[in-house]
Amino acid sequence: MLTFSNGKRILEHRYVIQEKICRKLKLNEVIHHIDHNGKNNNISNLQILSPEEHSRLHRKERNISYVLIKCPQCNKNYKKEERRVKYRLKQGQKVFCSRKCSGKFGSYLYWKIDESAKGRQSGLEPVNLGSSPSSSAMP
Ligand SMILES: [Zn+2]
Ligand SMILES: [Zn+2]
Repeated sequence: MLTFSNGKRILEHRYVIQEKICRKLKLNEVIHHIDHNGKNNNISNLQILSPEEHSRLHRKERNISYVLIKCPQCNKNYKKEERRVKYRLKQGQKVFCSRKCSGKFGSYLYWKIDESAKGRQSGLEPVNLGSSPSSSAMP
């Protein structure tokens, strides 16, 4: 952190790069330390990235630990990022192998609720999709 005589403060790496490019950095510009040493503010170690590029870069380099999970929908074992699984479980949510499975599970729950509501209505006949109306009309 550098402090100017007027009391304004700026992160050193932002200052260094602004001197180089002769303009102020925009809010959506992130300075990345190429050697990952945050104290190395040498201009050759600094790179301007968008926040997306920057997080992608760090995600790639970070060691992500995976855990093996059994999907409650398809019973398949699958790998999932441990951090995400822990977060979901903490929220009391189930963890599925895919968005497709979580969607299916959601509609299954909805179907169950719907079914019990139908049971209370006496006038409804179950629909048999196996036979067509024309064949059942035949003697
Ligand atoms: Zn970085
Ligand atoms: Zn699944």
